[in-house]
Amino acid sequence: SRAEIQYYFGAGPAQLPKPVILQLSKDIFNYENQGIGIGEISHRSKTAQGIIEKTKEDILKLLTNNGKYELDQLRKDYDVFFLQGGGTTGFSSIPLNLNNLKGKGGYLISGSWSLKSFQEAKRLGSNVVSLYNDKEENKAFKGCYKGDYSKLIAEQDDLKYVYICENETVNGIEYDATIKDLAHACKQRNVELVADLSSDIFSREIDVYDYGVIMAGAQKNIGIAGLTLYVVKKTLLEEIKDNGVDSQLPIAFDWNLQNDNNSCYNTIPMVPLHTMYLVFEELLASGGIKNQELINIQKSEILYSVLDKYSTESTEVEEKQKIVKFTVKKQFRSKMNVVFNLITPELEEQFAKEAETNGFLAVKGHRSVGGIRVSLYNAVKLEAVESLIKFFEEFVNKL
Ligand code: PLP
Repeated sequence: SRAEIQYYFGAGPAQLPKPVILQLSKDIFNYENQGIGIGEISHRSKTAQGIIEKTKEDILKLLTNNGKYELDQLRKDYDVFFLQGGGTTGFSSIPLNLNNLKGKGGYLISGSWSLKSFQEAKRLGSNVVSLYNDKEENKAFKGCYKGDYSKLIAEQDDLKYVYICENETVNGIEYDATIKDLAHACKQRNVELVADLSSDIFSREIDVYDYGVIMAGAQKNIGIAGLTLYVVKKTLLEEIKDNGVDSQLPIAFDWNLQNDNNSCYNTIPMVPLHTMYLVFEELLASGGIKNQELINIQKSEILYSVLDKYSTESTEVEEKQKIVKFTVKKQFRSKMNVVFNLITPELEEQFAKEAETNGFLAVKGHRSVGGIRVSLYNAVKLEAVESLIKFFEEFVNKL
């Protein structure tokens, strides 16, 4: 039963905060005593429209960064809308919505998802180039670009946007503070920063003014699968309107059409949308993003610290206990997805199996890279990480 699942570390779909899942299950059955569930009502009804409006408002509220920005100003500068889909539909909708603008898209490839996104843009014949591919520099993805972003961008004479995936869920790679240099370099040359935030959105404060486009599939930090969130600069949407979109763009993924129709040009999936609404209400009520960010930092720090203690490079423990290996450079370690290897595949198998038996679920790495992956999204409590660490140390001590 659900109650027996102690700790869930899945990479997505991921666990929802408990108050959210409890409320959601009620609302699916009977929403606010209307005698019908939230997934059964019309998306054009007053009730549904109210939820859509409130969710958009909460997103803007979360983006004010505790008063750094005025809500009214954000409303003037950015539009928020939702499309059916996930991250992959974003991979197609981004180049097709941006393709007719004057200038090309430059992709920074720092892991499996930015690579997939680039490949999709190429497949669609969009005007894109790769600015950096970490895998071409190394055998496996190890991190993000480390050079001078201003120079990298200045080398391209007709760049319209730079695409990044901020947190590479499969590889456990995340941009560090140098992302600010990237945002700055983009601004200086009038280039829009377009970011896939599917696996780190609202895990930390986001400076929305760094971005032209934020795209995020819902099923990690902000809800369940079925919906993609877009936050797009109004001036960019206007520019797209003036230039038109690629004729290959599926009508359901036309940003302006959806935005002008309050995300209801076609049927918006209300259960995922309502889930998002509940997640944001819970996030705002439980101390806001800054508070969540601090907890997330703490969770990842205590886990990485114990993994470092037992790493093959460690000087702290006996030889037989040095079982952890990292591919990712320290600088780019993800706070959301802690990805590592144990010294043999057999040991990884044994660890994942014993973890499961002991109530620590879904710690296996992505099938494409293997190893171990512990995902620490917002709904994962500090206590869950502390228990996992205790279990890990017991595991090592038995070796
Ligand atoms: N982008 C990122 C960062 C992801 O983690 C994922 C999926 O895990 C995707 C894109 C693809 O999302 P979807 O499976 O919803 O298409």
